[in-house]
Amino acid sequence: MRRYSAFAIAREAARFHQGWERAWRSPAPKPSYDVIIVGAGGHGLATAYYLGKNHGIRNVAVIEKGWLGGGNTGRNTTIIRSNYLQDPSAAIYEKARSLYETLSQDLNYNIMFSPRGVMMLAQTQHEIRGYQRTAHANALQGVTTEYISPAKVKQLCPIINLDGPRYPVLGALWQPRGGTARHDAVAWGYARACSDMGMDIIQQTEVTGVRRDGGKVTGVETTKGFIGCSKLGVVVAGHSGVVAEMAGFRLPIESVALQALVSEPVKPCMDVVVMANTVHGYMSQSDKGEMVIGGGADGYNNYTQRGSFHHVEETVRALVETFPMISRLKMLRWWGGIVDMTGDRSPIISKTPVDNMFINCGWGTGGFKAIPGSGWAMAELMAKGTSPLADAFGLERFREGRFIDESVAAGVAH
Ligand SMILES: Cc1cc2nc3c(=O)[nH]c(=O)nc-3n(C[C@H](O)[C@H](O)[C@H](O)COP(=O)(O)OP(=O)(O)OC[C@H]3O[C@@H](n4cnc5c(N)ncnc54)[C@H](O)[C@@H]3O)c2cc1C
Repeated sequence: MRRYSAFAIAREAARFHQGWERAWRSPAPKPSYDVIIVGAGGHGLATAYYLGKNHGIRNVAVIEKGWLGGGNTGRNTTIIRSNYLQDPSAAIYEKARSLYETLSQDLNYNIMFSPRGVMMLAQTQHEIRGYQRTAHANALQGVTTEYISPAKVKQLCPIINLDGPRYPVLGALWQPRGGTARHDAVAWGYARACSDMGMDIIQQTEVTGVRRDGGKVTGVETTKGFIGCSKLGVVVAGHSGVVAEMAGFRLPIESVALQALVSEPVKPCMDVVVMANTVHGYMSQSDKGEMVIGGGADGYNNYTQRGSFHHVEETVRALVETFPMISRLKMLRWWGGIVDMTGDRSPIISKTPVDNMFINCGWGTGGFKAIPGSGWAMAELMAKGTSPLADAFGLERFREGRFIDESVAAGVAH
């Protein structure tokens, strides 16, 4: 196990503290900006960061109704992987994963990226075929994954029970460079880097309207007054439909609460991430020792950012066959976030019917892993009008029937 000196711990604590400080000291908005990004989650902040870093656009404001990373970015279970089936998905998720590898150095902020490996258990014959197919697709896409045997699963994760009565473990899709990162640190790191480039991160300010002159956006109405802009990027996840409606168009998005829970902290017992999609549950161990357990999405659309008892019960019941040890753990807390689901379970990174207004949403249950790649692509789209990583994810695909079907890789999984 890696050990840190007292000095290194103090330095990291000071850096996190700076992140928190930035979180609460917001500048007063200027009358107008070249670019306004609505939403200071990971995707909005990463968009602002790559606008500055890759395209030299720095007269930028990020407007947030709550606090940095207070949406889904600070509520997810932090799984990072790129083993998707379709080529456009693998391209953007792998770009994101590879940027995560050096993000701490890039931002000079420890986001605690931990490429400990992610395995997706095959517990039915159908899943064996599905994951073997994905492993072949990943080989063609240059994404390193491998279909592994039950014995290898047990070797990598000794606490797993392979012989569950309902769903024995039959193998797994293994991505050795997948893993986790500290989610709020991703938001703080991007925010600090944006702020160092002279951008304004304006929290506690809600966008309440989008002002247009004919077909062109001119700025946003907010709880702190009107703020003008030449380009507008909307990156508000579960609230995308609400902001789109302010601009006069509709999105093919449904908003639902997705839930997760953590146990009390225990000694290190699991150093990989395990996803069990048939029973629907997934688990990893945080650096603090808590078992981080992902649950399901509500079966109806809603905006309630909280957990509910039946999901806790269903998720734990699903996982206990494969991980008998969790029956002896106490739950510490549970919560929910509003995720933005598209019909094909792929994101939208797109121009909109309003000139100079762009939208990035639809990451649903699995967008944390995509943050750096998504920000990279969205910034390129906003700066140049096109981006090779984003072009397949345009809004027009729903009209043209050109879906990027990731319902198996992303429907419930993360
Ligand atoms: C329980 C749970 C577990 C998950 N697990 C994983 C996982 O393991 N791996 C993974 O890859 N993904 C996971 N996800 C999904 C992931 O968290 C999201 O896809 C991702 O964080 C979305 O980031 P974002 O920046 O688009 O949205 P958010 O982080 O939600 O940011 C949007 C921001 O916009 C703000 N906003 C909204 N409306 C307005 C307005 N009118 N004016 C100003 N600001 C506004 C919100 O306050 C919010 O801060 C999970 C999600 C949940 C809820």
